[in-house]
Amino acid sequence: NRMVAPEYTPNDEETENPLRPKRLDEYIGQEKVKENLAVFIEAAKQRKETLDHVLLYGPPGLGKTTLAGIIANELGVNLRITSGPAIERPGDLAALLTNLNAGDVLFIDEVHRLPRTVEEILYPAMEDYSIDIITGKGQMAASYHLPLPKFTLVGATTRAGQLSAPLRDRFGVVLRLEMYSPEELAQIVTRSAQILGIEIEADGALEIASRSRGTPRIANRMLKRVRDFAQVTSDGVIDYNAAKLGLDRMEVDELGLDANDRRMLTTMIQYYNGGPVGLDTLAAAIGEEAVTLEDVYEPYLMQIGFLARTPRGRVATKAAYLHLGLQPPAEEAPGQQRLF
Ligand code: ADP
Repeated sequence: NRMVAPEYTPNDEETENPLRPKRLDEYIGQEKVKENLAVFIEAAKQRKETLDHVLLYGPPGLGKTTLAGIIANELGVNLRITSGPAIERPGDLAALLTNLNAGDVLFIDEVHRLPRTVEEILYPAMEDYSIDIITGKGQMAASYHLPLPKFTLVGATTRAGQLSAPLRDRFGVVLRLEMYSPEELAQIVTRSAQILGIEIEADGALEIASRSRGTPRIANRMLKRVRDFAQVTSDGVIDYNAAKLGLDRMEVDELGLDANDRRMLTTMIQYYNGGPVGLDTLAAAIGEEAVTLEDVYEPYLMQIGFLARTPRGRVATKAAYLHLGLQPPAEEAPGQQRLF
């Protein structure tokens, strides 16, 4: 239950829906993505065709689900939402696809986690808008060819590298979402505060924004918690001091690192001389799963230049030492070799 984990948690639900922008011009940041999408959507509408399949990739909480909803809204069609792990058998996918209306958007989150047998049905569905379903076994087996309504698949993944090549190749539009700047996040926080009826000052919004790790989901979550502090400790208005007090109390520091991040970096520095240390060794040392380290801790630490991945393992950078108030190792003179 980390405040700064970018993954969706059921606690986010209450605010996420009302806070989701519905139109492209309400969607803050991601300028390149928006510009391109606007053109593709307009062109498809002018030609009265369905939009090409779209792949969105980037870390959790950056607005992929939101963007899928916006695409459907801008096209004036329905949105169906599902996820890779939820579609267990080819029949599940067939049921979803045959129930679409012409032009609808089908959003598959975590599309890299579709079972292989399901993925194979998806290829002809994406390409020719039809599927072949085999029922029964042995002599009773029968194959049905089902034409489908034309639809747009919007796939989202946090790991573009894990997508199989045949699936990736079937997306006509591939868009990568970037982490947001503190200024963009401050705009998102201000907009969310307005929707939720929270009073916030510009420097309060910026303080929350700078600690949100480039991620709107985290910014919105922090806004809700900071509101509680502002309400109980002052007049309910979130100014710089209220934001700082709330976030300090939750042990989220100026750069958005929490106790877990600091513990990981400190472990690397104190027990492994700052690295290189292997992922599994490090995971065991701090009592986390290696995948959690890779998916949750590392992306942001690498983004801010605190951690480097090298062929020999993870390395804490000088910036990480300085941030933690620790003395970085002396730099070696050029050409000098380490003996030990
Ligand atoms: P993802 O699907 O990438 O995990 P979501 O689309 O669920 O992320 O976004 C998480 C939350 O962040 C949503 O509630 C949404 O309100 C907010 N959000 C994401 N991107 C933006 C944006 N560009 N502008 C405003 N709010 C955003």
